[in-house]
Amino acid sequence: MRVHLDAGICQGHNRCYALAPAVFDVDEYGQAVQRIDDELPSELEARARLAAANCPEYAITLTD
Ligand code: SF4
Repeated sequence: MRVHLDAGICQGHNRCYALAPAVFDVDEYGQAVQRIDDELPSELEARARLAAANCPEYAITLTD
């Protein structure tokens, strides 16, 4: 699974960081950034799904 975070629609709520800090980080402007561009380790997939489901802007896409 891979994560794609659309920075153009992210509003910086940082729910993703709260739910999956191993997958997302927060930059100096308070916007979310993804930590992992490559294939996610399988142990992080559940957290990534949780973050995507709780992003109010639908800014997180997961692909297999
Ligand atoms: S939860 Fe969504 S909108 Fe909020 S910081 Fe994360 S990616 Fe951006």
